[in-house]
Formats: sequence, structure tokens, C-alpha cells
Amino acid sequence: MSDVFMNTYHRLPVTFTKGEGSWLTDTTGKRYLDFTAGIAVNCLGHGYPALVKAIADQAAKFNHVCNYYQSDVSAAFAEKLVAACSAAGMKKLFLGNSGAEANEGACKIARKYSLKKYGEGRHQIVTLKGSFHGRTITTLAATGQDKFHKDFGPFTEGFLYVPGGDINALDKALDRNTVAGLLIEAIQGESGIVPQTPEYIAAAAKFCAERDILLMFDEVQCGVGRAGTFLACEAYHDEHGLGIKPDVVTLAKGLSAGIPVGAVLAGEKAADTLGSSDHGSTFGGNPLAAAAGLVVLETVNNPAFLKEIVRKGEKIKTQIGAWRHPKVKEIRGRGLMIGVDITDDAWPVLEKAIARADAKTPGLLILSAGPNTLRFLPPYTISDAEIDQGLEILKSCL
Ligand SMILES: *Cc1c(COP(=O)(O)O)cnc(C)c1O
Repeated sequence: MSDVFMNTYHRLPVTFTKGEGSWLTDTTGKRYLDFTAGIAVNCLGHGYPALVKAIADQAAKFNHVCNYYQSDVSAAFAEKLVAACSAAGMKKLFLGNSGAEANEGACKIARKYSLKKYGEGRHQIVTLKGSFHGRTITTLAATGQDKFHKDFGPFTEGFLYVPGGDINALDKALDRNTVAGLLIEAIQGESGIVPQTPEYIAAAAKFCAERDILLMFDEVQCGVGRAGTFLACEAYHDEHGLGIKPDVVTLAKGLSAGIPVGAVLAGEKAADTLGSSDHGSTFGGNPLAAAAGLVVLETVNNPAFLKEIVRKGEKIKTQIGAWRHPKVKEIRGRGLMIGVDITDDAWPVLEKAIARADAKTPGLLILSAGPNTLRFLPPYTISDAEIDQGLEILKSCL
């Protein structure tokens, strides 16, 4: 393994050279079943033929044009993505390269929306304890976990954290005179696959609407079909049983199935908040990412495909439940975004699942989320037989 990388990642001892479907092969020829999809990125698995063709065809034309101009493919991707998010009321978007960048855009939209309408002093953004919103100085500040708030200060001011699930605390924090936006993961990813309850989301939507505070969903991990609906927030309803209509949604990870991209989308209220020269990104939504993103939208935003994500997720949860394994404490999540709390530390299970691989026996790639949670984010294209095989490997490692 190369040691010229800065020591930022706690890496497992394996280096990959090849991928195929739900499988990766390492430098020694050992094979691993992939339950990680690169942390919800490679949602169509490795080497998905339509994706390979779209990227290759686009690369043969051009990879990039600067933002003085539009390209046909980026425009087509943007149109299709806004349409895919129209059930949630989205009208316009800005394309960047990552989840953190998308969330930076969301914070800028909330601040400017509030400033233009209400003047100075109403710039706070409320986020949840246990949330994860990115690694830039501002998105670290947005992240409601103390462990991220050291060494790099001073952080961007103006973030307030509330405990998830506590409607009274949310009511208090969402002060109409000081708060511009609420940024929330419908299903928290990094901190252990923690879905918010329908009551909590309905209350959040009500408070935000009454107080003209922007309701912003960070769907960087749970969006793009991961939770079984195109946007995870589509599964929530307000107190009248109507679909939740956020003001802003951010997407990234799975959006171009492995090519870097990020999107911040806005509904009616904030679609025109950012104006000329307010924001920019050299690579943002470039033709290569857009070509890949078009394939993702054409494939994933399809009721039959989404139904399969739900079915496969239920299959995983049911099968693990049926083990009645003494080390399995709780199984959570929706679609193919599943967290399993175990009585032991999760990390040694990840190590064992890799170490068991030899020339004949495959290993398993699985993630953790917090110290005791195993996190499942397999590609949507995983087969039933591969799910069975991966779960057998996991069981043997518990
Ligand atoms: C991964 C993640 C981010 C950060 O995305 P990057 O592309 O790494 O910047 C932000 N929010 C959520 C919910 C995420 O899961």
C-alpha cells in the first residue's frame, strides 16, 4: 500500500484493481462482494454497461466546457433531475462536485433568502445532533457532532444543534427572528442509519412553513433511490397527509454512479435566490458527470426499479432478523440503506470480512457507522443470490 497519502483515512489493508457488478478484485486476485457501493456512490455496481458506454461516448466528444456556456448533455441532465424531484416541488438547481459543496450551496441559499427578505441577524441554520453534512469548514460547523469541532477553528458561525426526535426542542430552536434554515437528513447516514419519524418531519415542515424558515433536506446519502423512493423525503407527509415539500434538497453520492457530482435543488420559494455571480464551480455538473447522471436517472427513477430496491432491502432485514443472532441488537433503515446494531465493535467485523478472503473464498466489503453499527449500502443492481452469499459471509464473521 502506498504511504504518500496524507493519513486521513483509517483504511483496511486491501487495494483493488478491478470491479464487475457487485464484485471487486484486489491486487492478489482475491474477490470481494461489495455491500458498500463506495459509500452509496456506485449505485449501479461496477462496469454497468449503459454507464460505461455513456461515459466513453461523452469522453470521446468533450469532458468539459466552461460555465460561460451550456453543454447539451449537462442541460439534459439538469432538466431530468429537476423533473425527478418535481414531486417534492423542486424547480431549479445548481450543480457542483460533492455533497459538502451541495450543502454549502444550501447554506448560502438560506442565508441570502433570509437577508433579502428580513435583513441582517436572521442567519442561523439549525441542524441535528448526530448529523453529518461534510468536511469543509462550514459543513463541519453544520455537522452536529462535537468530535468534528476541533483543530480547525474558527469555524463558520451561525449553526445551532437540536437533538433529533425532540419536537419541543425543534419548536424552540426555530426562532422566526434569528433562523434562516433547517438542514436535516431524513435518514442520518454516518451516525448509524437513523431515520427521522414521520411526526418529527411533519412538525419540522409545519414550523418552517409558518415561520418562513427554509426546510432543507440533505439527501446526499439517502437520496437518488437509496431509501426506495427517488428522494427519501418523498416518503414523509405533513399533518394533512400531503407530501412534504422541502424548500431545498441536496444530492451527491449516488447521483452519477461514481463520477463526482453534487446538486442543490430549490423549490418555488428559493429557486431564484442565487443570482448572477452569487455562486460557481469550475467542474460542477460537467459533461462527463452529466452523461453518467443521465443513465442513473433513466435507470433508477422508475417505479419498478425503486420497488426492487425496497424488496431487496426488506429481504436483507428479514433474513438478518431470522438469524435471531445473539449479537444482533437492532435492524433499522429503508430501502438499501440499512443499519444493524451489534453488541460487539463493528470495525473488527469489517476486518474479518476482508481477511476471510483467499484464492477460493470470497470476502465481503461492508461499512460501519458509529462504533457498533454495521452499515449496508449495496449497489441497487445486487442480485438475490449475492445478497444471500454476502449475508452468509457476514454471519460467519459475527
Ligand atoms: C457523504 C455525505 C456528505 C458529504 O459528501 P462529500 O461528497 O463527501 O462532500 C454530506 N452529507 C451527507 C448526509 C453525507 O452522507
